[in-house]
Amino acid sequence: MSKGMEVDCTRRCKSRLHGQVLTGAITKRSVSDEALASFIKATCANFIHAFDFEGRTALHMSSSRGRGRLVEWLVRHSSGAFVNARDRESGYTPLHRSIFYGQIHTAVALMKIGNIIIIYNAQAAYS
Ligand SMILES: [Zn+2]
Repeated sequence: MSKGMEVDCTRRCKSRLHGQVLTGAITKRSVSDEALASFIKATCANFIHAFDFEGRTALHMSSSRGRGRLVEWLVRHSSGAFVNARDRESGYTPLHRSIFYGQIHTAVALMKIGNIIIIYNAQAAYS
């Protein structure tokens, strides 16, 4: 089965199972953000857009868990639009989730990143 998963996993991968493996790994307390980043990259070629069975991405989970460095790493690999993706569980974006779970440092980091994206988009639109 794992061989089949690898064959199917491309940058357009839509495997919910891959998404589930990613979000499951992020909930493990003992694993560092750096180790998770390598694991995520090795697990799914489309890790930014991989949704789990609850409609959550790796960015949603790392935001609610307050994994700031992992959040920054994921955002560097995301489009601006995807940073604001809503989960299916509650309709929350990663920013909503970080606030809901009391991860204030992560929320502040996301807002800073969000502003940067808005500024870039505005400059691109008017240049
Ligand atoms: Zn995949």
